[in-house]
Amino acid sequence: MIETAFISNPISLQHDMGPDHPESPLRLAAIMRHFSNIGLDNKLIQLHSTPAYDDALLRVHHPHHIDQLEKLSMTRGLIQLDEDTHMGPHSYEAALLSAGAGIQAVTDIMSGKYLRAFCAGRPPGHHAEPKATKGFCFYNNIAIAAQELRFQHNIKKVAIIDFDAHQGNGTVEIFKNIKDVLVCSSFQHPFYPHSHWNIDRPNIINSPLEAFSDGDALRRVWHEQWEPALVAHEPEFIFISAGFDAHRDDPMAELNWLVKDYEWITERICHIANRFAQGRVISMLEGGYDLRALAACTEAHVNVLISH
Ligand SMILES: [Zn+2]
Repeated sequence: MIETAFISNPISLQHDMGPDHPESPLRLAAIMRHFSNIGLDNKLIQLHSTPAYDDALLRVHHPHHIDQLEKLSMTRGLIQLDEDTHMGPHSYEAALLSAGAGIQAVTDIMSGKYLRAFCAGRPPGHHAEPKATKGFCFYNNIAIAAQELRFQHNIKKVAIIDFDAHQGNGTVEIFKNIKDVLVCSSFQHPFYPHSHWNIDRPNIINSPLEAFSDGDALRRVWHEQWEPALVAHEPEFIFISAGFDAHRDDPMAELNWLVKDYEWITERICHIANRFAQGRVISMLEGGYDLRALAACTEAHVNVLISH
């Protein structure tokens, strides 16, 4: 078994954007309950995240964005940050802890405490841009973790694989001019967030998928685009923006992936990690809004992380 941490924090369960919001505390609760029911929690090193530090946020975000969120956190009640993102009483703390989980995983993996990590934080991160919250995301957690690795450790070339049903606009914006960071993103198209899908850079592999396409389309993307790009890039570390909203049952998107497709893509990614990156993988939770599908897909994903 491959030593793998499960990094979360109870505050993540208190980040609440209102009773009808799809990015609800029930998502993380469903994953945790399911892992406990099947005994998967016992196979993972359970850790509580600590908050991200300012300099780590500043490598990715504009100072105004950081100051603005801190200032708004002093306000009471539910504050609307953008079209679909809200800040409640525990949201700011949860956002810092969600970003902090990736930093902790980087530090621990580089010091040899374990080889892999699944960061089960809320809010998610891949839509957050340097100067803006977006699509339920406050800080770009995966970008903050990747930059922590590149700045604090002697590693330059990394890959970020984003298989959320929505395009990882924030991650693409942050890394579009940093050629050492390869970003592979699959997403339903045309679809939210309607930006960054046509960015043309050698290190950005955008892989649009037609609505209602299934795991076969994902396999084509892997074989024709991602695998050749990853082999050419030879990443020393792999990050995954793990969104599970491409599942057939998910209410927020119209892709038809199944649990076995998440299992398959995770196996392929681990194979590349073993070949080039000494097996090092950090996966961070992004979307996934059907609670049963989310729990089952996360189980399949984490089971591969600990075994391949
Ligand atoms: Zn999504």
